[in-house]
Amino acid sequence: MNWVDTHCHIDGEEFDTDRELVIERARKAGVSKLFVPAIDLATSQSIVDLCRQHSDYLYPMVGLHPEEVRADWRTQLSAIKSLLSPLSPVTSLPNRSPLAIASHLSPLIIAIGEVGLDFYWSREFEHEQMEALEQQVQWSVETRLPLMIHCRKAQNELVSILKRYAGELPGGVFHCFTGNELEAEQLLQFDRFVLGIGGVLTFKKSHLPEVLPAVVPLDRLVIETDSPYMAPVPMRGQRNEPAYTAHILQRLAQAYGVSEEEICQQTNANVARVFGV
Ligand SMILES: [Zn+2]
Repeated sequence: MNWVDTHCHIDGEEFDTDRELVIERARKAGVSKLFVPAIDLATSQSIVDLCRQHSDYLYPMVGLHPEEVRADWRTQLSAIKSLLSPLSPVTSLPNRSPLAIASHLSPLIIAIGEVGLDFYWSREFEHEQMEALEQQVQWSVETRLPLMIHCRKAQNELVSILKRYAGELPGGVFHCFTGNELEAEQLLQFDRFVLGIGGVLTFKKSHLPEVLPAVVPLDRLVIETDSPYMAPVPMRGQRNEPAYTAHILQRLAQAYGVSEEEICQQTNANVARVFGV
């Protein structure tokens, strides 16, 4: 039995002292792949490098997170975009042997993320956030890479931007879904998208164990940790890590009244459909 952690910030400094051990524990727990979202230009670059060192296990995303959108967002975006065309820096090398080209290729970038809107802490860069999101949505249409979407206190604005591209978008994940039935249905109208379900599902007061089986079919969700944040019960409050997805898997199986094997099969199929891996 194995499954994928579709969203973990394993590159974060929280893991600087024991990253290899955390990865080893994830493998042992049954996690077959880790998808790693970036938040800005620096992490987009460092995540591509980190994933190159673990190319059979870690898969990178590149993108600009809404909370990182500031006055310099245009510069950040154009530099991040250059990472999506991995062959371009090689043209300047004098000896372009196949090996030289191969060693400069980015590891398989699986998605654009994380991107989105976040008006929870501040609306200072509200318009910039919306412009940055729309540009990255256009990258998704052009490159056919799915979107990893973060949204907080901005679902109406998010939906209205996505609607402009609904017919052309390849798909993606609404990560860290914690909404109600109406909000789930509104997001699922984008038919190539799925909801990312994490630790919140296990919290005592969470309504997700009722909301999800009521309106979200099993072929519309994926598992995630959002490590190092959002640790599930019984690790709540501690540093989260990909191995803890086992608790989310367990709670999902309970909520839907199916076996953990079935959740694995379904979510693995969803991951393959959305991300192509
Ligand atoms: Zn995240």
